[in-house]
Amino acid sequence: MTEQADIVIIGGGVMGASIAYHLVRQGNGKIILLERQGLGNGTTGRSGAIVRQHYSNEFTARMAKESLAVFQQFDDRVGGDCGFVTTGMVVMIDEAGVDALRANVRMQQEQGVTTHIISADEISEVAPGFSSAGMALACYEPDTGVADPMATMYCFAQRARHHGVIIREGVTINRILTTGERVTGVQTSQGDIQAPIVVLAANVWSGALAQPLGIPLPITATRHPMLALRRPNDFGGRHGMHAVGLDLTRQIYLRPDFGGITLVGSAENVFTASDPDAYSQGLTETEIARYRALAGGSIPALTRAVPRGSWAGIYDDTPDFHPILDRLAAYEGLYCAAGFSGHGFKLSPVVGQWMAQLILTGTKPVDMQHFAFDRFTTGKEIRPRYESGVLG
Ligand SMILES: Cc1cc2nc3c(=O)[nH]c(=O)nc-3n(C[C@H](O)[C@H](O)[C@H](O)COP(=O)(O)OP(=O)(O)OC[C@H]3O[C@@H](n4cnc5c(N)ncnc54)[C@H](O)[C@@H]3O)c2cc1C
Repeated sequence: MTEQADIVIIGGGVMGASIAYHLVRQGNGKIILLERQGLGNGTTGRSGAIVRQHYSNEFTARMAKESLAVFQQFDDRVGGDCGFVTTGMVVMIDEAGVDALRANVRMQQEQGVTTHIISADEISEVAPGFSSAGMALACYEPDTGVADPMATMYCFAQRARHHGVIIREGVTINRILTTGERVTGVQTSQGDIQAPIVVLAANVWSGALAQPLGIPLPITATRHPMLALRRPNDFGGRHGMHAVGLDLTRQIYLRPDFGGITLVGSAENVFTASDPDAYSQGLTETEIARYRALAGGSIPALTRAVPRGSWAGIYDDTPDFHPILDRLAAYEGLYCAAGFSGHGFKLSPVVGQWMAQLILTGTKPVDMQHFAFDRFTTGKEIRPRYESGVLG
């Protein structure tokens, strides 16, 4: 007999887990989350997991602020340890970016974000170890932090399970099933499941599931490198954390990790599509040398750091570098939360909350309306003020 559910969620990353958690907290019914590999094996497990509020639009700054509050009180608000540590963050820019930075910081302050402009001379006070060479201006956001992406995803998943969500790993959705103009379920590697509501939270793999339904999701898979450097022991030691750095003069970001590690990632846009199931997951020698040298420019002590591993992850880039959080109106009962363009982790608490509200009540919070699917065809694309898409 075919299994029945009220809601099927496709994808066991931080988004699928957060949506499942918020759905079960807000509603009743049988919810099944299906993940083709292991939970977090997609993009989430490769995330830098920086949690900042520095965005260039009012609604994204508000969204990030609301999400940060959840990370700060994660055990009370969700339950469990998501690994969040407050580190502070500096954003460093060159002469060309001065006006944009001043405008963004003003806008963020108006949204209640604690942030302020600092001069090159003040960098060493708020972010010891960082160099101001080459920068014209910076801002400092003291509440920024870093989390553990796997731990966060597991907290959402475990709490969802605790409240009754059925989570299955190693189950691939081959097809979303429809009759006429409505969704009827999913065809999986372990049989069909009938459900009137299907939520596509499969990151860059969402496009392949929507495409047979005649829905072209504008999501491109792009490869992004991450280098892990063991810091010299005289910079922070084994347990010390340093500030997060968005060094836009070098187009990199740096985040402290546990065990004396600093992760270095790229803020550059990548316009070449990759195959998300067959891309180069390691870094080349050239990439390792490049990111190590760039990191040493931002934090001079890192010129003495030891590369201790590297990986590349995939971004699900949309044309405006913002996600689709919406019903896919061609089919009643079909929803999408994908296209996070490399900056979704920090937004996952609010994404789960918004999607659950939309699915259960049919209503959207005002700020969610910016993420409508039809914005790409109605001239309402989001306009980030930074050239780097990952900054948002
Ligand atoms: C290198 C890197 C650094 C990043 N740094 C940051 C950062 O510092 N801060 C930040 O906010 N964000 C960051 N991000 C982005 C963030 O990690 C992602 O936006 C977020 O993890 C996306 O979660 P997700 O659940 O949408 O995707 P995923 O974690 O990819 O989950 C989707 C899941 O769907 C599954 N799936 C796919 N197809 C199927 C199918 N047919 N059937 C069943 N399951 C399927 C996949 O296996 C996968 O597990 C970074 C990303 C990368 C790659």
